[in-house]
Amino acid sequence: MTVLARAAAPVDSVACPRPPARHDAWQVAGLTPLTTIDFPGELAAVLFGPGCPWRCRYCHNGHLAADSDGPRIEWSEIRSFLESRRGLLDAVVFSGGEPTAQSGLAVAMAEVKGLGFKVGLHTAGPYPERLPALLPWLDWVGLDIKALPEDYPAITGVPGSGEPAWRSLHLFLEAGTPMQVRTTMMPAWRADDLKPLVDRLADAGVTHFRMQPLRAAMALDPAIVEAGDWEVPEAARGYCAALFAP
Ligand code: SF4
Repeated sequence: MTVLARAAAPVDSVACPRPPARHDAWQVAGLTPLTTIDFPGELAAVLFGPGCPWRCRYCHNGHLAADSDGPRIEWSEIRSFLESRRGLLDAVVFSGGEPTAQSGLAVAMAEVKGLGFKVGLHTAGPYPERLPALLPWLDWVGLDIKALPEDYPAITGVPGSGEPAWRSLHLFLEAGTPMQVRTTMMPAWRADDLKPLVDRLADAGVTHFRMQPLRAAMALDPAIVEAGDWEVPEAARGYCAALFAP
């Protein structure tokens, strides 16, 4: 296992908050050098961090979620890559796995910001207590809200997992962080099943929301693979279009 040990670069020359004083490693298990779909409206690179505390039945990144000792990309390589993309890329998205599972995320974000990139985050929100340290660096968040809080364990396999996810949602909303909330379908979900969730999100103040079809082929749970894909119900699409921007 490669452990990243590069110290954060000074960011005094750019107008952003003081970087976190302590450097912890944020391990990178993968890199997408260019994407137009992971940060709305921006050309971005995506960094994938290993590890996740949950095991969602439909997870396509099960290898990454359970990865504790797989191959890593040295942070020095990431930094060199990003330096070579200044002026070509707008943003860097931290994804996973669950990127907030590693304590060094704020330092890594500060370094990326110091290089002149916008910072995006894909998270399912399992660690709301870690988010305040990230907020100063964040330009956009894609937050997975999987279900109503009480329905989380049936998806994640982890008792009590809904409470931190919804706490993360409220924290981002209170901070005013630009955000898109996403919900992935579960097998047999119909429009009526989705309405209580959609209404709760709208009441909470969510303005950008997208429902994603279930793609079963790579799912962690063989029962999901067997059940097959599940599309977003047309009636739910219409209902959401009236309430949210995409
Ligand atoms: S939270 Fe995301 S990465 Fe973690 S198990 Fe669920 S789908 Fe996979």
